Amino acid sequence: MKVLVLGGTAGARHLGRALGHEAMISLAGVTSKTVSTPHRTGGFGGVAGLEQALRAHGFMGVVDATHPFAAQMSRHAFAATNRVGIPLLRLARPAWPRQPDWAEVADLAGAAEVLPAGARVFLTVGGQSLAPFLDTANIWYLTRSIDPPLRVPNGVAILQRPPFDLAHEVALMKAHRITHLVSKNAGSGATCAKLAAAALCGVQVIMVKRPRLPVVLTVESVREAVKWVENLRE
Ligand code: NAP
Repeated sequence: MKVLVLGGTAGARHLGRALGHEAMISLAGVTSKTVSTPHRTGGFGGVAGLEQALRAHGFMGVVDATHPFAAQMSRHAFAATNRVGIPLLRLARPAWPRQPDWAEVADLAGAAEVLPAGARVFLTVGGQSLAPFLDTANIWYLTRSIDPPLRVPNGVAILQRPPFDLAHEVALMKAHRITHLVSKNAGSGATCAKLAAAALCGVQVIMVKRPRLPVVLTVESVREAVKWVENLRE
């Protein structure tokens, strides 16, 4: 196999399908979702473990197609590929452009801090990121995740898998009398309808900015990533 694709996103799955047996997809194993193309599951054991895995398989390159908020894995990929001396490509959708009426915050704790007492919040940050919201008093949450979280904040928790359309998101916000939407800036087309729905429903958007990542060659489409892998052969 030519490349290791660090996954956990739809983009990684699509890339895996496009590359077939040229790629091994690596999954953290935190959700029930798996892939049908060649893959492995579980952490590598830090930078040293990833470096060892890259050398053992003789990969010619790595595509970091993790979620833009999986910052630790991206930093490890940067460090390990540097140590081994092989190229690293990031496959990532561009961030959603900032809207003037959004409140932007640096991290999840910052989002929890700006929520006012009495807020009815649509919390769409993923089941692994709920900790900062668990002990916030006088706030009601509609929590949406793909897999059931271990603990959820006060309110209602629903399990839904993207994509979501505008009518669905508007209906959900109206049914639960939502006042605030908390989202990570994932940039995904499959989940962006909630932003248009919030604008239509007069819901305040609290957007968590992307973490800073090492600067690497980045492409936005699976097609470009496939081309990069093809060029590794030359
Ligand atoms: P993270 O904080 O960046 O990584 C934590 C640790 O999990 C890493 O150090 C690594 O363990 C392991 N890991 C992460 N991604 C891996 C992968 N693709 N293959 C093998 N090991 C991996 O990541 P996270 O935010 O917990 O996200 C975990 C996974 O869920 C990622 O693959 C990401 O793409 C996906 N995901 C994350 C979010 C999000 O909002 N963070 C949303 C959707 C999907 P070792 O140090 O032991 O190697």
